[in-house]
Amino acid sequence: MREPVCRYEYDLGALARHVREVVAALPARCRMFYAMKANSAAPLLRTLAPLVAGFEVASGGELAKARAAAPGAPVLFGGPAKTDAEIAEALDEGVERLHVESILELHRISAIAARAGRVADVLLRVNLAGPFPAATLAMAGRPTQFGIDERLVTEAVVAAKELPGLRLAGFHLHSLSNNLSPEAHLEMLELYRRTVTGWEAEFGLRCDVVNVGGGIGVNYADLAAQFDWARFTDGLRRLVDTFPGHWREIDFECGRFLVAACGSYLTEVLDVKRNHGLCYVLVRGGTHHFRLPVSWQHSHPFTVRPVEAWPPGLPRPEARGEPVTVVGELCTPKDVLARDVVVDRVRPGDVLEFAYAGAYGWEISHHDFLSHPHPEQVFV
Ligand SMILES: *Cc1c(COP(=O)(O)O)cnc(C)c1O
Repeated sequence: MREPVCRYEYDLGALARHVREVVAALPARCRMFYAMKANSAAPLLRTLAPLVAGFEVASGGELAKARAAAPGAPVLFGGPAKTDAEIAEALDEGVERLHVESILELHRISAIAARAGRVADVLLRVNLAGPFPAATLAMAGRPTQFGIDERLVTEAVVAAKELPGLRLAGFHLHSLSNNLSPEAHLEMLELYRRTVTGWEAEFGLRCDVVNVGGGIGVNYADLAAQFDWARFTDGLRRLVDTFPGHWREIDFECGRFLVAACGSYLTEVLDVKRNHGLCYVLVRGGTHHFRLPVSWQHSHPFTVRPVEAWPPGLPRPEARGEPVTVVGELCTPKDVLARDVVVDRVRPGDVLEFAYAGAYGWEISHHDFLSHPHPEQVFV
């Protein structure tokens, strides 16, 4: 029996074109790393490796995937709760830098590095007080588990300067995710510049590297109005000229913005039915494959690919020009991919294509809940 359509499709050519353009527009000294947690599939990593400055990883598992897909690629090691084994492995593997999230972690890295006869290059990740622009996720400017509280920076810098196993190369500031405004992002970088140059003066430091994180957004609500990278990099070019010349590198580590567009999630409609006045479209698949919409409580954009073939004699219900709610095959009312979206027509047997599913799609999903088969993964 034919299995219903259910697959992720990744367009590696489109990915390469997009990332090549993104990187080419960066001013001097700015480098683009890929934050692997957005999607760590090996074909994506192999496509990205020659185009980006390297990979940002946040676990031993991601480090192993980076090494397997692109053995020579530079790696930055972050993550809020590193184990001793991960730190030792990162040092063994010769990562470029570790991003440090607490004062205790500074001590642990120093001890492990000193035992191995090494000196680890580190950036202090700081949770600044802000203010920050509105974005979908906030990692700083409020209490979170990330980074060192701005009020504890003095203590952290003193420790970093004294500890024998490490060298303080600069600061790491990843404060938000899914920011859609180039102006707001430039303002945030200006805040970073003021803050870090202030610390340099206060502590008699000269930073080598400042990592400004990721957080460039994807507009899921209006796919035609994406983050204006050209406008952003024009502003960035002017701004970078005001950054201290001794900052050898200004690192970006983007995830979503690099890979979201190259992936689609395709699912076949199994049923269309009305229930207490609402119209439901039920698909093969759901949030166990593609958790992003339920995690963000948004309706994910999709288009209907009509399929004419249909077995004779079977009824074929349809929705026409009316709002539908697209749900998956899980036995929970939370399994919703899109809500109250008006479609021209949708029938069982048609295929829905969810666009911009390349970042935080498959990666963040609870694949084995209800033990349905996994989707195919197709890389073209
Ligand atoms: C997740 C993450 C990123 C990437 O964020 P995007 O919003 O996908 O660009 C970068 N840096 C750190 C530390 C992260 O945790």
